[in-house]
Amino acid sequence: MDALKTSSRVLVIGAGAMGSGIAHVAAVAGHTVYLYDMQAEAVERGRAGIAKDLAFLVSRDKLTQDAADAALARVVPISSLADAADAMLAIEAIVERLDVKQTLFAELETVLSPEAILATNTSSLSITAMAAPLARPGQVVGMHFFNPAPRMKLVEVVSGLATDPAVAQTVHATAKAWGKVPVFAKSTPGFIVNRVARPYYGEALRVLAEQAATPATLDAVMREGCGFPMGPFELMDLIGHDVNHAVSQSVFAACFNDSRYTPHLIQQELVHAGRFGRKSGQGFYAYG
Ligand code: NAD
Repeated sequence: MDALKTSSRVLVIGAGAMGSGIAHVAAVAGHTVYLYDMQAEAVERGRAGIAKDLAFLVSRDKLTQDAADAALARVVPISSLADAADAMLAIEAIVERLDVKQTLFAELETVLSPEAILATNTSSLSITAMAAPLARPGQVVGMHFFNPAPRMKLVEVVSGLATDPAVAQTVHATAKAWGKVPVFAKSTPGFIVNRVARPYYGEALRVLAEQAATPATLDAVMREGCGFPMGPFELMDLIGHDVNHAVSQSVFAACFNDSRYTPHLIQQELVHAGRFGRKSGQGFYAYG
C-alpha cells in the first residue's frame, strides 16, 4: 500500500505538545497541514513552537533555511474544520477523552471526503470504541506518535476491530515516508508502549511514596544505571501529568481495575494542583 501523496493535505486537530509536533513532521515531509484547535491562541502558540523547532534544526545543519521556511509556510492555521474539507488524513491530538474524540470524529465525517483517514494520536483509548458510533468505522486508525514527535522515531499504527487493513497499511507507509519507524499494534489497553510503561511509572511513584529516594535520585539511577535517556519523573513532567494520569486511569479501567496499573495518588494530587509538568512550569521539578 502506498503512502499518502505529498500533494494530499493533512489536518491536525489539537495544537498542543503533540499536535504541533505532528504538524511539524507532516509539513517537513511536504504536506500542506491545516492546524486547528478549539483555542485560537493554542494554534498561534503551536505554530510559534514549530517555527522555533525548525530554527533549531537549521542551527544544527539538519535542515536548510529554505526548507524550514517552506515547511512553516505549509502549516496553515484554520479557525473552522470546514476550512479543511479537502484533507485526506486527519490526525487528532486533543484531550484524552473517548467521548470528546468521538464527537470530533463524527463532525469530521460530515466535513471530510468519505475516503479521508481519521487517525487518532490517543495514548491508550480503544480505537474500536472510538470508531463504533461512526458511519465509516473502517476509516479510523491509531497513529500514535511519541513526545517530542519531530525527534521520536516510533509510531504505533493501531487497528481496531473495524479498521480497514488498507487504511492501516496507508498510515504505516505514510509514517515511514515521514522518516518514522512505524509498528503495527492492536487496540489493546495502552497498545504496546503505554501498557509496558504503566507499571514503570507506577513503581517509580511507589518508591517515591516510600521515601526511598528523591525524584532526582531515581531519575539519575535510571539514566546512569539503566541507560534510559530520561528518568521516570523527568519523563512524566515532559508528557504532562494531566495527560499521563488520564492514560493511567484509562489503562487501569480497560484492564478491569488490574492492580498492576493502579494510578498513583501523587500524580492525582499534581493534577489537582495544576502542576502538569513542563507545560505549566511546575511538576516534580520547577521550570523557569
Ligand atoms: P495538550 O494538552 O498539550 O494539547 C491538547 C490540545 O487540544 C489543547 O491545545 C486543547 O486546546 C486542544 N483541544 C482539546 N479539546 C479539543 C477539541 N474538542 N477540539 C479541538 N481542540 C481541542 O495535550 P498533548 O500532550 O498534545 O496530548 C494530546 C493527545 O496526544 C492525547 O490524546 C494524548 O494522550 C496523546 N499523546 C500525548 C503524548 C504526550 O507525551 N504528551 C504522547 C503521545 C500521545
